[in-house]
Amino acid sequence: IARTSDLRMVEREVSEWAEERNTEIRELKEREAFRREFIGNVSHELKTPIFNIQGYILTLLDGALDDPKINKKYLNRANRSVDRMIALVQDMDVLNKLESGVMDVRKQQFDVLKTIRDVFEMLEDKAEEKSIKLKLKKDYDRPMKVEGDPHRIEQVLANLVVNAVKYGKEKGYVEVGIFDMDDKFLIEVADNGMGIPETDIPRIFERFYRVDKSRSRDVGGSGLGLAIVKHIVDAHKQTINVRSTSGVGSTFSFTLKKAK
Ligand code: ADP
Repeated sequence: IARTSDLRMVEREVSEWAEERNTEIRELKEREAFRREFIGNVSHELKTPIFNIQGYILTLLDGALDDPKINKKYLNRANRSVDRMIALVQDMDVLNKLESGVMDVRKQQFDVLKTIRDVFEMLEDKAEEKSIKLKLKKDYDRPMKVEGDPHRIEQVLANLVVNAVKYGKEKGYVEVGIFDMDDKFLIEVADNGMGIPETDIPRIFERFYRVDKSRSRDVGGSGLGLAIVKHIVDAHKQTINVRSTSGVGSTFSFTLKKAK
């Protein structure tokens, strides 16, 4: 009898061990697939600007260099492609650091209302180009003290406001609201722009996911902005949501813990 129960115990241990190995193998395979997809995405993103730059250089070598009017045009275009590559590499760097935990979230108490005003100031010119008005939902008259990493939260707000401008409509608006919810604030970034189709909403926080690829590239997007936003909000153990209607507009909202 003792032998049978011993045998059963061994059997159980072996099957648990096999189960664990299976899980490990599955995780490794997932990671490998993820890595491959990421590299595929990055090379795809870099291909377009690199080929564009080569095209401009070839045109210049082909004679355009001697025409002062045309050579400026092609050099400017090449420069814009370089800008795109720089933005992509910078975003990848931030995301990589966030994901590997090198960039830790340094919690401090700060006034998020001031951060919003700073972000507005930073993006005023960009909004002006499309005659978009950056505004606060109310005349908030006191500081809104929250707990978090001020630089990271500034990045969240900047990415959301940049998107609201990029995908906003000419002469439209971007409105930021702060709502009191017990121990938290809910921060809303709303626009009356092109909106996001319902089927795309669940995927927009994924790396490199875009609703309209050519449009996103035209407006200088890397496809990583919202992945960075989501990562930072998660690292603060807070939540982010989006409501959007195609052709009407989008509202992104995230929570922040109030400072004690
Ligand atoms: P991108 O660099 O392409 O803007 P993001 O990660 O910031 O990348 O956003 C992912 C996609 O989500 C965008 O390509 C765009 O299609 C959509 N999107 C994000 N913000 C908005 C918005 N405010 N209005 C409409 N679409 C948006």
